Amino acid sequence: MKIMKFGGTSVGKPERMFQVAELVTRGDEPVIVVLSALSGTTNSLVTIGGYIAKGERSLAKQEIAKLEAHYLDFISKLVKKPASLEKAKAIVAEHFEFLNIILKISFSEALSKDILAQGELLSTKLFSVYLEEAGVDHELLPALEFMSIDSYDEPQIGSIKIKLSQLLKQHSAKKLFVTQGYICRNARGEVDNLKRGGSDYTASLIAAAINASVCEIWTDIDGMHNNDPRIVKKTVPVEQLSFEEAAELAYFGAKILHPASIWPAQTYKVPVKLLNTMQPEAKGTTICEVAESVGVKAVAAKDNITAIRIKSSRMLLAYGFLRKIFEVFEKYRTPIDMITTSEVAVSLTIDNTTQLKEILKELEPFGTIEVDKDQAIISVVGNEISQTRDMIKKLFGSIVNIPVRMVAYGGSPHNISLLVSAKDKTQILQQLNKGMFGLD
Ligand code: ADP
Ligand code: ASP
Ligand code: MG
Repeated sequence: MKIMKFGGTSVGKPERMFQVAELVTRGDEPVIVVLSALSGTTNSLVTIGGYIAKGERSLAKQEIAKLEAHYLDFISKLVKKPASLEKAKAIVAEHFEFLNIILKISFSEALSKDILAQGELLSTKLFSVYLEEAGVDHELLPALEFMSIDSYDEPQIGSIKIKLSQLLKQHSAKKLFVTQGYICRNARGEVDNLKRGGSDYTASLIAAAINASVCEIWTDIDGMHNNDPRIVKKTVPVEQLSFEEAAELAYFGAKILHPASIWPAQTYKVPVKLLNTMQPEAKGTTICEVAESVGVKAVAAKDNITAIRIKSSRMLLAYGFLRKIFEVFEKYRTPIDMITTSEVAVSLTIDNTTQLKEILKELEPFGTIEVDKDQAIISVVGNEISQTRDMIKKLFGSIVNIPVRMVAYGGSPHNISLLVSAKDKTQILQQLNKGMFGLD
């Protein structure tokens, strides 16, 4: 069995959905199709939740009406038969009625998650109506019945495995299943999600849970590119990556993959393919256990980074100092991305600043603390890059007139990370594209 995940743009227009239907019915192998919400929908639901949270109900109502009009237009082009259109209209009515009821209830965090879930529920149900009209036998699997996270927001892979296999067993004659990406239940049994871009994570978790032959991530670009195509003009697809390389790129900002989406597939040794819905014959990127070549493959950038420097002469020749610092971050469940040390100071970066005030207060007794906000991590990723001759020379030779605040090298053989001011991000990515990849 294989997994085929389609992102927002891949289902954002009726003609795209027709193409998705064509792609998922091509082969003989049974398929679980994971769908995102139609492009723009989750953003719109975030806006609606934001208005409701601020008590701006009439603005929320306007946004809901705008989104509903979009869906009514969408279904009018999606299906032809009057009976199918009636079904699709009933689905749209049900979900928008829910949103309009929410307007009258007092706002809570749990309610905002319910709002966000509507996108994937709509896209999968509407796709199912289209498949039914086209005479394609399939089963809709409700993600809320098998996808779950624990009280630390970590997916419960054991329980996902059991529940999903039970569901699949109930429909053992079927060859095509459709389910929602992104949404899940949390430890309290409420509707929750796997964070923005989380449908990739859903796909990888399902691939791991059922030991799929492959996890295909279908999107609007022909694979992982060597640099961020939103920022740099000339970028090229990378044909093959190891799980480690892909995980570094996803974690350090390559938006094509959710940051956590590699580990489930990697743990269960399921190859991942990144493919282009608009160009299905393009090779894309294959991600598997071993890297097939040595050297630098790609560069990615992660925004909204805060750097913290702790300077203390007590660090000199001391042991246990780093442990005490790490314990503060552990206490506030704040992951550290980069770390560099000197004999009298340690610099580290975080991207989650929700507990920054508390962290800084607890770090104060350790020495002088400096905080730099609005930083960006630039990650250069590849296989055995430390053994690639002249790589460092090439890397630093490419950077002109941009101060580098931190460098982390040697932590893994696949990555060198640089910390720069966020305002220099675009320029450094362009300079690296020219200097490291010869692309201008
Ligand atoms: P989907 O809606 O299919 O999940 P996303 O928008 O989340 O798609 O991810 C695809 C986008 O990721 C591409 O359109 C591209 O702009 C962006 N992207 C950022 N970095 C990279 C990269 N290194 N390679 C390919 N795409 C990237
Ligand atoms: N629809 C969700 C989002 O926009 C999940 C996803 O697309 O992966 O973040
Ligand atoms: Mg995405």
